Amino acid sequence: MNSEDCIFCKIVAGTIPSSKVYEDDVCLAFNDLNPQAPTHVLVVPKEHFDSLDTAVGEQKQTLGHLMLTAAEIARQEGFAEAGYRVVINTNADGGQTVFHLHVHLLGGRPFVFPPG
Ligand code: 5GP
Ligand code: ZN
Repeated sequence: MNSEDCIFCKIVAGTIPSSKVYEDDVCLAFNDLNPQAPTHVLVVPKEHFDSLDTAVGEQKQTLGHLMLTAAEIARQEGFAEAGYRVVINTNADGGQTVFHLHVHLLGGRPFVFPPG
């Protein structure tokens, strides 16, 4: 995936609008367009990489940053203690549709396991 054709790169650049939840130097968090829970936030790195499958050591800090950001948003949203789900869909069988790595933060309802 060329980052010039990437919808999440365009959201990070501000050329496609999004409903922003949080932003810092490393990541942007915004509400999913098609929410699967009362809160469904996507936490995306500002740096483009396709998926967890293509991540390398260089992205180790970024990946940790995305996880801790999701946890902080969960606390701010007020459902951290009740619980929530963090998901990284990867490649076709994992259900990934946008090939700019992103963390789904889902909260505000109970979830079952295993997911579908
Ligand atoms: P994936 O299936 O790749 O794990 O997740 C992609 C997610 O991005 C989906 O939940 C989908 O609803 C969301 N999405 C796709 N296009 C847009 C968009 O333009 N804006 C926002 N906010 N979410 C999007
Ligand atoms: Zn991208």
